[in-house]
Amino acid sequence: MARYRDSVCRLCRREGQKLFLKGHRCLTDKCAIEKRNFAPGQHGKSRRPKLVGYGLQLREKQKVRRLYGILENQFRAYFEKAARMRGITGENLLAMLERRLDNVVYRLGLAVSRAEARQLVRHGHILVAGRKVNIPSFQVVLGQEIAVKDASRQIVPVLRALDLGGGRGVPPWLELDRQNVKGRMVSLPKREDVNFPIQEQMIVELYSK
Ligand code: SF4
Repeated sequence: MARYRDSVCRLCRREGQKLFLKGHRCLTDKCAIEKRNFAPGQHGKSRRPKLVGYGLQLREKQKVRRLYGILENQFRAYFEKAARMRGITGENLLAMLERRLDNVVYRLGLAVSRAEARQLVRHGHILVAGRKVNIPSFQVVLGQEIAVKDASRQIVPVLRALDLGGGRGVPPWLELDRQNVKGRMVSLPKREDVNFPIQEQMIVELYSK
């Protein structure tokens, strides 16, 4: 499957804000945004252009897409599905992104970043309701239990994430059983549970053109 292979810090620099794609490093002064907060590339140091209309909408969509580590086609497919659902399209879109298995693993604090969560899932370390699921885009449903496989509980990424995860906090729609390295979705994610500044309406406007 295609995936982004360049430096992820470039993505933050392009968006001009921290997207927290690298786990602990993002909280230290080694973060590229702390050291050189200008766009990547030859002309990056010139003043950022003032964006309006389409430019703003495009940047907002790119930011969210990069935050969740999703490529364009899949992101558009999420949008189209969100638009067909009942309710507010932007909120439906965010709820679907939040319910992705890789995001749930990250939000439970079982991985230091979404990319690492994705790798845990891909490598078969994660069980959903007792069964191995290795599809990062799997949509977790209400009441489902997400656990790290017994044999994987002592692997370094999980131990490190549990060590660092305390500071990040688990959102109210999830419940973590730290002792047994597992969690559960106890309610559906609401708009206010997305703790990152996102203007989803701009994405809706962009795709509705
Ligand atoms: Fe972004 Fe983290 Fe890199 Fe900082 S360290 S630029 S927040 S990915």
